[in-house]
Formats: sequence, C-alpha cells, structure tokens
Amino acid sequence: MAGAALVVSGCSGGSGVRPGVPDGGGARGEASATGSSTRAADPDEITSDDFAAVQDLLDVRAQALRRGNRKAFLATLDPGNARLRRSQEVFFDNLQDLPVDKLYYGLTESGLRPGEVRGDDPVLRPEVFEHVELSGVDELPVSNQVSITFVERGGRWLVGAENLDETFEAQSRPWYGARIEVAGDPDLLVLTDRDAAVGADALLDSTRSALADAADVLDEPDDRPLLVDATTNGLATQLSNSSGEDAGAVSFSVFATDPTGQEVTGLAGAVIKANPDFVQQLVEDSRTLRHELTHFLLDGYGGTNPQWVTEGIAEYVGYYPGLLSSSTLTDDRLLRQIRQREVELTPAGLWGNDPSLDYLTAEAFAEHLIQTYGLDKYREMMDVFKRRGRTSAIRYGEGIVEKVLRQVYGVSSDSVARGGFGLLEGLAD
Ligand SMILES: [Zn+2]
Repeated sequence: MAGAALVVSGCSGGSGVRPGVPDGGGARGEASATGSSTRAADPDEITSDDFAAVQDLLDVRAQALRRGNRKAFLATLDPGNARLRRSQEVFFDNLQDLPVDKLYYGLTESGLRPGEVRGDDPVLRPEVFEHVELSGVDELPVSNQVSITFVERGGRWLVGAENLDETFEAQSRPWYGARIEVAGDPDLLVLTDRDAAVGADALLDSTRSALADAADVLDEPDDRPLLVDATTNGLATQLSNSSGEDAGAVSFSVFATDPTGQEVTGLAGAVIKANPDFVQQLVEDSRTLRHELTHFLLDGYGGTNPQWVTEGIAEYVGYYPGLLSSSTLTDDRLLRQIRQREVELTPAGLWGNDPSLDYLTAEAFAEHLIQTYGLDKYREMMDVFKRRGRTSAIRYGEGIVEKVLRQVYGVSSDSVARGGFGLLEGLAD
C-alpha cells in the first residue's frame, strides 16, 4: 500500500494504513520468479498460473463467506490441520454475525516468506488483501493485508496457514482472532469479545450516550457511521502512543484500496479501538469515550492543528460539564509542577514530553478560549489551521500559531497561554 495517506484524527495508536513492504520478498527463488513459465521444467516452480489458481481459491472462499456456506469455506482449507480449521471457523462465524455488504480478496504476484505448513508440497504466500465492507458503518470496503500461505496438495492450491503478521499490521480486522459479540444500530456498531466482562450491548449503551453528549456539546450530528472495536483482536493492548495518550481508546480512519492493495481509493469509515482491558472503565466513566468521540466528530483536523488545540477540545468535551474554573486540585505535587511549567502554548515539538501536564494545559487553553469567545470561534480557529496546513506543508500549526490567533481572536498567543494558566492557578483555591 505504498503511498497510502496516514490520516489520523487526533491521538492515535498504531493503527493506520501501513506501506506493505514485503518481508523477504524474493527470498524464495521459486516464488518470486513470476513469468518464468517459459523456463524448463521444475514441476514445483511457481508460475502465473499458480497465482491465478490461488486467486480463484480466494474467490471461492469469499463467496462462501458472503453466503454463509461453511462447507464450501472449509473445503478451501488444507485438510487434516485441526488448528487451522478451528481458527478459520471462528473467523467464519464472526463474519456471519456481522452485517457484511461486500467481501473479496486481491493479490499481487509476489512471494513473501511463507508460514509453516506441514509436509514438502509447494507453498506460496503472495501479498493478499482482504476487502470487507460492513453495512451502515462503512462507505467502502476496508482493505487489510492478510498473511495467508497457500499449499498445493495433489495439484490443488489450498489455504495452508494464516498468521497474524506484525509487519503488516491490519488497519482494522476485529473479526480475525477471538470469537466476537456484536451489538449495534445501522450506523453504530460495537464489538467485544464473546466472553468479555462487559458485553457489546453494555458498551453500545455507554457509547450511544457518550456520543449524544459529545455531539450535543459540539453541536454536531451524532449519527455519523462508526465502528467501536473493543475486542482483543488486532493490536488491542498496544494502544498507548509515544505521546502517552490515554491507553483507553484511540480513534482513526480506515481506507479502501484497489483490489491488489496498491493504491488508496478512498475513506472507508471511522473506527474507535477501545483497549479491552479498559472497557469496564469506559463504561463506568465515560470521559475517555467522550474524548475519543470528540476526535471522531471533529475528524480531519489531526495533523494540521497544534496538538493543544485538538487534544484541548477533546479534554474539554470529555470532562464537560465539569470545568477547570469550578474545580480544585488537592495534589500539591501537580500544583508545583504547574507552577514550574513555562507559560506558553505547548509547541508541537515539545508535545508528549510530559503527557499529564500537556493534556491538562491543553484543556486549560481550550476552556479559556471556549468560555471566553465561544465554541464557534474555536471551530473557526481549527478551520483556519486546517486550511493553512493544507496549502502549505505546515504540521501541527508550527510557525503560524501567533498569526492564526491574531486573525481569529485578535489576541496574542501569550495572552491565551496566560488565560489558560490563570485557570490552572485557580485550581489551588
Ligand atoms: Zn486524544
């Protein structure tokens, strides 16, 4: 997926479109020598015909998955491999529980390092892309690279192994791994593990009300399609990012590609990936959900706006109607740290060095601006950063913060910083 745009709304974990760099491509001569069918005569040599046969098998597999034909699906697997069969049956059952609109596979004629398959029969692992569109929550099929190794048994290609491959981190593939539970409306789909302490129905309720709250504060419609994935499938427990963003959940966009996964063709949908270890917390205290849902509702600003702007409003909405101006802080150590911090709007390059203060000060700057000048002005500021960031190569508003604040608010960045720190000072009372 070379050249894929990584668009992340606000804080994000590792999820996103990754370039599909083949690992060990060409390591196996026979697999990489495509178009070599004119050469003589190693019967095991991989040719374009083999790739075509694998694509045919994938077409059969996709049709079986779409139609819920278990027998036809199982017939695409290497027989006698009980472990493969078990994991593939879970995959099959999960997809049957989901509102699948479209499902198909594509591949490139490349040879990646094959997974483990029993015996000495020829194996082949092309770059395979799985495309799945879920009704309601996706606008286009979500493209995920998958690690399937095929084996030729008695002249017929079959699925010999499927592995989770850390190198090709999928964008969003909650249906592969553990058995899932599904709850939802047409435009809000919530997934958890089947045996999770907090089930999909409970998480759906919390999400629906947090979404309504956040949309209400932001004056945004709350019916934009969204998938909330709280399963253990995928890189579920690696959600904290380098800037120490709360590991409870992250929000991101997912993309469609051409069948062979080489070019991004459009935005497919929005996902909030919730850390399954924190679901209880999300349900009991909806602040993190509202924070992430704010990123989702204000999608498209990440990267062009300073982090204190995007994270600030997410924190503001997360705590709302709680305000710093009506809060007190009894943690003397934190108060001392606040007093030692430089009174400035956190520069992009320093964001994440001190996460707890970065988020707290961001909330203070946002609250100061929103309570003094209103939400519309704040949104106008976000739009100005976004416009300027698009036409130039400016990241996180670097170098233009002063200009934008003067243009939108007619004030200096110093005065915004002082306003925010004034709110933090007040926490001591
Ligand atoms: Zn965030």
